[in-house]
Amino acid sequence: MKARSHLKKLTPYQPGMGIDEVKKAYGVKTVVKLASNENPYGCSEEVVKALHRELSNLFLYPSANADPLRQKMASYYQISPECLLFGKGTDEIIHLLARAFLNQEVNTVMSDFTFPQYKKNAVIEGAEIREIPHVKGKHDIPRIIEAVDQKTSIVWICNPNNPSGEYVNEKELLQLLNEVDSDTLVVCDEAYFEYVDAIDFPDTVSLIDRYPNLVVTRTFSKAYGLAALRIGYCIAHPDVISLLQVVKDTFNTSHLAQVAALAALNDQHFVHECKRKNRQELEEYYTFCWRFGLSYYPSQTNFIFIELRRDCDKIAGYLLTKGYIVRSGSTWGSPTGLRITIGDSIQNDTLIAYLTQLLRTKDDISLLN
Ligand SMILES: *Cc1c(COP(=O)(O)O)cnc(C)c1O
Repeated sequence: MKARSHLKKLTPYQPGMGIDEVKKAYGVKTVVKLASNENPYGCSEEVVKALHRELSNLFLYPSANADPLRQKMASYYQISPECLLFGKGTDEIIHLLARAFLNQEVNTVMSDFTFPQYKKNAVIEGAEIREIPHVKGKHDIPRIIEAVDQKTSIVWICNPNNPSGEYVNEKELLQLLNEVDSDTLVVCDEAYFEYVDAIDFPDTVSLIDRYPNLVVTRTFSKAYGLAALRIGYCIAHPDVISLLQVVKDTFNTSHLAQVAALAALNDQHFVHECKRKNRQELEEYYTFCWRFGLSYYPSQTNFIFIELRRDCDKIAGYLLTKGYIVRSGSTWGSPTGLRITIGDSIQNDTLIAYLTQLLRTKDDISLLN
């Protein structure tokens, strides 16, 4: 076979156990998924109504550039529609950026403790990857600046960062933007933007005019609760957008996804309520950590990464038997940490009760069975 040689470095994504699988395997009635940072409150009811109205239109191709949604979002952000591109989730936007801007002649810079898709796509394109050690879950901006050279095509900033929930503030981001050449893209992946409440978080959309090499990505999968429909977007200078448009499939987002996103955008009240409840519930986890002297990263998102000082593959395995799906830190080389999506009040109370029980039994999980 004549496949590209870099592909040998990668293996297919291993999905965790799904809800039905866990039910079957452990005989539990309800399964709570707190592993992929989905919205525990679902999505706006306006979205469901809008989708129902469109069910007679399934025979038509969608708008290639999601035009009605693009217009609406442009006025929402007070930007030109030419600065917007929609994709099959942020995942597709990352893929398009890599396809358009990475190759074997360039390098790309990222944190060593972040969303795995940047690295995966860079490997596929054969670019040199420069991973910069994180500092307490944060991107090390001074060292990232040092690592950038004339051959750097993309710097990836996951903000707030998955899996830590930590963030790069406005001052740090401006430092980076002022230091790198204008032909090096700085991609800010803001998948959790709607959950942020730090006052010094950068207002990246307002920076696009000043920095034509800045790309901001956001998604409808998290706070808007539309992960199943696969729709995300990026905001950038029209020249960057045009390049990505050349690369993308013609009909890359479905009609139903576009309709749902438009209805979701129109219901900001839903998003604000989710943000408020999330903050409140996050405090429950902080209290739990203080009570047991556990360290954690302060989070600007709907998940928390807790250092449990125990084998978290085992702990995640044990929680599965109770119907709770969470993510072990071993995905990021931190096998004693656990990343938990903040669920609703009952889900969090139950999970915290299981964790409390675990911590009281010292190290031997088998004692609980
Ligand atoms: C969840 C997530 C995304 C992705 O989402 P899509 O569903 O593809 O829009 C992107 N970036 C980060 C950091 C995420 O955690």
